[in-house]
Amino acid sequence: MSASFADWVSTADAVRATAKKLEKHAVLARYLGSLEDGDLVVAARLLAGAPFPRRDERVLSVGWSALSDVLLERSGKTGEDMAASYQRHADLGDVAAELIGEDPPRGDRVSLADVVATFDAIAAARGVGPKRELLRALLARSSGDEARYIVKIVSGETRIGLREGLLEEAIARAFGRDREGVGRAHMLTGDIGATALRARHDTLGEPTLAHFAPIGVMLATPVLDLAEVGRRFPPPYVVEDKYDGIRAQVHKAGDRVELYSRTMDRITNRYPELVAPLLAVPGSFVLDGEVLAFSDGRAVPFTDFQTRLGRKDVAAELRTKLPASLVAFDVLERDGRALLDLSLTERSAILRQIPLEAPILFPDQRAIAESGDPLAAALEREFAAARERGNEGLMVKDPRSPYRPGRRGMEWLKVKRPLRTLDVVVTGVEWGHGKRRGVLSDYTFAVRDGERLLNIGKAYSGLTDKEIAEMTEYFLAHTVRDYGRFRLVEPDTVIEVAFDQIQPSERHESGYALRFPRIVRLRPDKPVSEIDTLDEVRRIAGR
Ligand code: AMP
Repeated sequence: MSASFADWVSTADAVRATAKKLEKHAVLARYLGSLEDGDLVVAARLLAGAPFPRRDERVLSVGWSALSDVLLERSGKTGEDMAASYQRHADLGDVAAELIGEDPPRGDRVSLADVVATFDAIAAARGVGPKRELLRALLARSSGDEARYIVKIVSGETRIGLREGLLEEAIARAFGRDREGVGRAHMLTGDIGATALRARHDTLGEPTLAHFAPIGVMLATPVLDLAEVGRRFPPPYVVEDKYDGIRAQVHKAGDRVELYSRTMDRITNRYPELVAPLLAVPGSFVLDGEVLAFSDGRAVPFTDFQTRLGRKDVAAELRTKLPASLVAFDVLERDGRALLDLSLTERSAILRQIPLEAPILFPDQRAIAESGDPLAAALEREFAAARERGNEGLMVKDPRSPYRPGRRGMEWLKVKRPLRTLDVVVTGVEWGHGKRRGVLSDYTFAVRDGERLLNIGKAYSGLTDKEIAEMTEYFLAHTVRDYGRFRLVEPDTVIEVAFDQIQPSERHESGYALRFPRIVRLRPDKPVSEIDTLDEVRRIAGR
């Protein structure tokens, strides 16, 4: 028989209740070690906050309104209660626990197997009605505490929850394996559940990177000016243009090729013109690169190319007007061999052996060996040249560095346009004035501080009329609470805002305000977990 979900919940609660890492590990290790194989896989996946393993493409797609309907019904509370509770917690899972409270569940208690079986069924169900029914049946049998986690997972809120590193460490401890081995197997399999099982059975060593199981992309740290580069790591430096397009991880094996976004969504059919040229390359590979369009040898501005984003199938007309290219700047796997641990220099050598042909391109790579003033001068020249080619700025990489999936470190630095921008999430919207009457054009936005979102400003210029109209429709459908002029919305729309200065201010809960904020663009490619943080704001303000 499958273990009870209530035990899983007490474990998750116990982990949240202590700030001490070692205690967290001990609680998790004891629990994971006690489970049978099948439950171990499920429990680990749920602790990671996701209904399915990362390599799995299924999604629950239970909308906010279905979720809140079911919740209101289960708790017998009103929409007002729910809105008030949401204002307090800003997390639908905590809202669920509060609304249901001590109200006893009905029917058989829920097991771990019941939870996954319901998630499987919800993902497979078509239409809101059947999905809602499945969730309703599960929540009827759940206590308030159990509902907290079910709702968190369904609404995707635990994405910024239990850190993967913590879980990996606990798995290592539970089965007496080393931490590195667990982290590596996790990255290569794309499944924390399968990783836990491998740890138990001592089979962590498999060296293959799973095809069509996207892994996190390596991220870059912004530097505020070129002089900062020299303080981050010593020469030599590898410099590439920073292409302003869409990040793509390409997997090819046999006669299949897929492109994945940085959020690990499959985006292959947005760029059909890239498929044949990629398939034509012999052997298997995983590439990291940027999709963008070129016209007369210059990069097309992102805002022009972006019109293709968000469409599942691209009109033939657009395809011929703005055909996509892929600049492949890294290789993570080639013919069955994972290359992540090799240095950038070694990876680049392997990359350039791959017979890629237009529209798949290699980036122009330059090496800079100087330090001090000559370095700054060389970077200055490179930066200007990159801008001249229509690119956003420079990427400066450490040639000695391995590929670190999902990590933002100092080994890749990005130097963008001199204008400062922040990636933020919209938390509230307001009806516009004058010519913007009748559309939701004023956006309040927040930065991230751990799991919390803290407002930092409000902006109302920068988007096109068409974008504003589309956003209005979106926000109307994703309003959490309607205050008339102002609406609290689901915090999932990421935008990039530019500003002249950051100043301390009492006006917003972050304790800072932006001077002259304006919206640069929508960032549908960026998940909320990757927006800028309060720390970054402090860093900029501190200068
Ligand atoms: P940002 O999206 O502003 O955080 O900047 C990081 C992004 O720059 C990466 O996620 C890539 O999509 C993009 N990028 C553009 N050119 C390169 C390059 N040569 N190397 C690595 N990343 C690049």
